[in-house]
Amino acid sequence: MRFISTRDPAHRVNLSTALIQGLSPEGGLYVPERWPAFDFGKLSASDSLSAIAAKFLAPFAETDPLSAQLPEIAAEAFNFSAPLRPVGGSGLLSVLELFHGPTAAFKDFGARFLAASFARLRAGAARPLQILVATSGDTGGAVAAAFHRRAGIEVTVLFPKGLVSPTQQQQLTCWGDNVRSLAVHGTFDECQRLVKEAFLDPQLRTAWELSSANSINLGRLLPQAVYYVATSAAVFRQGCGPASFIIPSGNLGNATACAWARQMGAPIDRIVLAHNANRTVPDFFADGMLRPRPSVATLASAMDVGNPSNLERLRAMFPEMSAIRSALSVVSIEDGAISSRIRADYEHFGVIWCPHTAVAAEAWARLPAAEQQAGPWVLAATAHPAKFSEIVAPLIGKPVPVPENLARLFERPSRFAVIEPTLAALRATLEGRHATV
Ligand SMILES: *Cc1c(COP(=O)(O)O)cnc(C)c1O
Repeated sequence: MRFISTRDPAHRVNLSTALIQGLSPEGGLYVPERWPAFDFGKLSASDSLSAIAAKFLAPFAETDPLSAQLPEIAAEAFNFSAPLRPVGGSGLLSVLELFHGPTAAFKDFGARFLAASFARLRAGAARPLQILVATSGDTGGAVAAAFHRRAGIEVTVLFPKGLVSPTQQQQLTCWGDNVRSLAVHGTFDECQRLVKEAFLDPQLRTAWELSSANSINLGRLLPQAVYYVATSAAVFRQGCGPASFIIPSGNLGNATACAWARQMGAPIDRIVLAHNANRTVPDFFADGMLRPRPSVATLASAMDVGNPSNLERLRAMFPEMSAIRSALSVVSIEDGAISSRIRADYEHFGVIWCPHTAVAAEAWARLPAAEQQAGPWVLAATAHPAKFSEIVAPLIGKPVPVPENLARLFERPSRFAVIEPTLAALRATLEGRHATV
């Protein structure tokens, strides 16, 4: 199996190369060259998520150096569950909880798969790998947790000082060992610029092999298809027909993975992209004009994306406007509706949503009754509400219970260095001339 670039179908690489490179050389994103038909009869009700991952991902790793190790990699990445829980009593609505990993967001699956793959691809390498991640909140924590204590790999997380939530900051700074955390005097955009400059810096490139682990890496996307495969197969086995998914979306990695799962034959009906007030994708669906723009800050901050990278993958899959419109639905939800949905569903169903999941719940609530009743509908819950308790607790009028995985992170000491947003400052820190605080 080979992967091609969205910008050059003649550029073909195997899985390992796509993972290590991240982006293809001309700036495109890697996508499978074809869709292997997956035999869903191979899955059984007793399969664990990691067993499903190993079976489903096998065709993508065929003839790749990672092929033999795929079951082990899957076991490391999928070592926590993604339970499906009913919402209300209709039997037609449920929530897929993707937040039971170390940093309580769905990004743990992809980050852990990438880390387990990198650790094997880098075994015996001469130079250490330096992974640079600029983060506005959730990505950095998931990547730091996944790569913590991986031999031969260092991670440097750059986050905008004072602009992440207290829980997010703890998740970015509690690791130590091979993980370095830098609070940058500046915005997320400046963190991202610094990472780009570092990749071009000859001095840094002689000391390290530099890589990124951002969400456009194929190694973060492919594993995300696994929970859609597992969930849709389980719903189908119960005789409920194909499930429709509503996915809180920002950079569209999670939704693209769901579309890939359906393309390979998973019993999935509709896919709804639920965006916040960042309307780039809803506007594109409305008039066919793609107008990237600066992001606006919303309550569902992990979805504040003004130029979603993975739209390029979806457009490669559905080149015609009519095709993309019939394959996917899209909706945009304002902050006011996020807050009232968190309040209403706590009162009505007793469930506590994070602000991102609430975007999906509101998208469902706005469906015409006939469509709701044509279910089964599944809401993807992308983060645990305790990660955003500053927002959620006042809305439901009580503290959000903190799950054990998050509580454990709060027991660890937090350490980070503060740097100016300059390449010289980043270089000095990486070269060890900067003490952490
Ligand atoms: C990253 C993130 C999203 C958006 O996912 P994409 O794959 O970028 O569309 C939604 N919710 C949470 C909690 C996230 O961390």
